[in-house]
Amino acid sequence: MASHAKKTLNFKISLFFFAVSVTLIVVLTAISLFAFRQFAISAATEHLRTAAEIVQARLMETPISDIKNQENFLHRLAEIQNLRSVHVVLSPVVNEQIDTERKSGYVPDQIEKNVLQTGKPEFEISENNGETLFRGTIPYTTGEGGDSGCLQCQLAQPGAVLGAVTMIMPITTLRHNGLVTIATIIGAVILAVIILFILLYCLLRPISATASAIEHAVQDALDGNFKNEVEQKTHDEIGQIASDMNRLLKFLDAGINKINHYISQLVVRQPKPGENLLLATIDMVENMAHISQYKFDIDTDESKFDVYHRLLDTINGRFLDGQGEFSIYETSNDSSELHPILVGGMIDTPCRWCDQKILTDPKSCRVFHSGRTFNAFNPSDVCYCFKQGDDTIPRYPLCFPIHQSGAASIIVQLVVKETDKDHILANLPYIRVYLADTAPVLEVRRLMETLRESSLRDPMTGLKNRRFLEEYIDTLTANVRRKQTNVAILMLDLDHFKMVNDTYGHDAGDAVLKALANVIKITVRASDIVIRYGGEEFMVVLQDASSSDALNVAEKIRASVAAMQINHNGVVLQKTISIGIASFHGDSCTFWQAVKFADVALYHAKEAGRNRVQHFTSDMWSDNQEY
Ligand code: GH3
Ligand code: MG
Ligand code: MG
Repeated sequence: MASHAKKTLNFKISLFFFAVSVTLIVVLTAISLFAFRQFAISAATEHLRTAAEIVQARLMETPISDIKNQENFLHRLAEIQNLRSVHVVLSPVVNEQIDTERKSGYVPDQIEKNVLQTGKPEFEISENNGETLFRGTIPYTTGEGGDSGCLQCQLAQPGAVLGAVTMIMPITTLRHNGLVTIATIIGAVILAVIILFILLYCLLRPISATASAIEHAVQDALDGNFKNEVEQKTHDEIGQIASDMNRLLKFLDAGINKINHYISQLVVRQPKPGENLLLATIDMVENMAHISQYKFDIDTDESKFDVYHRLLDTINGRFLDGQGEFSIYETSNDSSELHPILVGGMIDTPCRWCDQKILTDPKSCRVFHSGRTFNAFNPSDVCYCFKQGDDTIPRYPLCFPIHQSGAASIIVQLVVKETDKDHILANLPYIRVYLADTAPVLEVRRLMETLRESSLRDPMTGLKNRRFLEEYIDTLTANVRRKQTNVAILMLDLDHFKMVNDTYGHDAGDAVLKALANVIKITVRASDIVIRYGGEEFMVVLQDASSSDALNVAEKIRASVAAMQINHNGVVLQKTISIGIASFHGDSCTFWQAVKFADVALYHAKEAGRNRVQHFTSDMWSDNQEY
């Protein structure tokens, strides 16, 4: 584009100069021709007028009848004045004075008739056999007031036209000379134009060369190469432009290299050989800006799931056009298991791209095993646990570890299609930065969640605690209202538990409590909630359970506990349990009152002799009753 523009400029200057030269030559030639023609005509006219005056003077002094003498004179004049022909025509008034036998018999042509009539001279140029002839017909008259010297004017009035002299003069030589002169002038002009052209060329050449060098330097700079130098050809303004351009290029080169150096350290990405340094740097800066914004955003994310979602959404949006597929696995606390956290954007779903066995045998996962990023883009790199999709599109796993406390505790798996491979590889350094920046935030979120989790659990039995119930109660009551179902509340209390402590020690008591927790857990459904409500009191919340369901479950628990034998330090302990049941909605429209009613039912079970199940009945409760 620039080259085209430069050529156009050169072309325009040359064309302009050429047009000016041609116009100059044409105008000069036209002016010269016109001037010379005017000069030639005026010189020839003057010449003929002089000759005519001589003829007139001679004719005035010569009798009309002296024809012979006149002819000799005219012949002689033609020779001297270099005339082709001279002849005289007489006006009718003079002609009448001449004897018929002496009349010449010459018949005047139209021009001569006009001149004799008007008394005004006429001139014309004509070509004859390649010769240019100038003809003039000049009248002569009597003098004003009578001319005593005039021998032909006897009958003529003063001022009357006596005759006319017609002379023909060759002016070919004159024209030839004129053309030679004009050719010389044109030659001189062309020479001057050539000299001017050379001077102009010498003047323009450094400008053109500098412009061309700047154009190349700019093009190279746009391609990311700032090393070009523009040669300084002159020491004028053009030279200054070249020098300034070099300074600018050096400044940009140093600046871009510096920026690139620092950014490369941050993203561990070096521009590839031949890559546009400027574009590579812009790309790096742009990505760093996104990463910086990402860091800010994940800091505001509340849970680790928010962080995981943001991480995947960001990588997907920025590098896979929103078409990527992902999985995230976390290791268990003792690193003996992997848990799928997010698979295809879904929480708690089974493995999709990996063999199920990695969940129970994490070492079979290459990334977990090596602690290093793995991709199967090269045919030699194979992951035997990777499962292709159901469709025929080949996919490749790209799995990253996120290290926490020195071990790979999170594995992020990108499932990349063939068409995205190169793009992903090119952006791998950025993805690594995203993961590296996510790691500490995730560690904090996971720690917080562990802390929160532990604050909601009873450490000895592993059951949820009363605090959990307090936090969960809003969700539970909202569910019950929405689904219009019943929740059965079972309050459980070991019978004469104090005796165990007193007889066998506190540890024996703890062993009984743990065993009891296990029995309850395995007896109820996974969706039911088992809570250690107090010291040796437990609560079971049965979802979607009728009164008879609740009675069945409670009876099962009671029987299991009664059958339970706990071996502690060689002593076999056996305990029973009493259970009170109330229904939330069935017995009470508020949860906490249902809890209270279950407690009342439990009290009744104890009162009735323990090791039994008692459902709440309204007669067990009166508003002013206190326990
Ligand atoms: P009842 O049949 O009326 O329920 O009699 P009980 O002895 O079971 O009831 P009581 O309320 O008199 O005693 C409860 C005992 O449970 C008192 C306390 O020392 C014991 N206890 C509470 N929490 C724990 C614990 O975590 N570990 C142990 N070993 N004992 C506990
Ligand atoms: Mg108790
Ligand atoms: Mg008790």
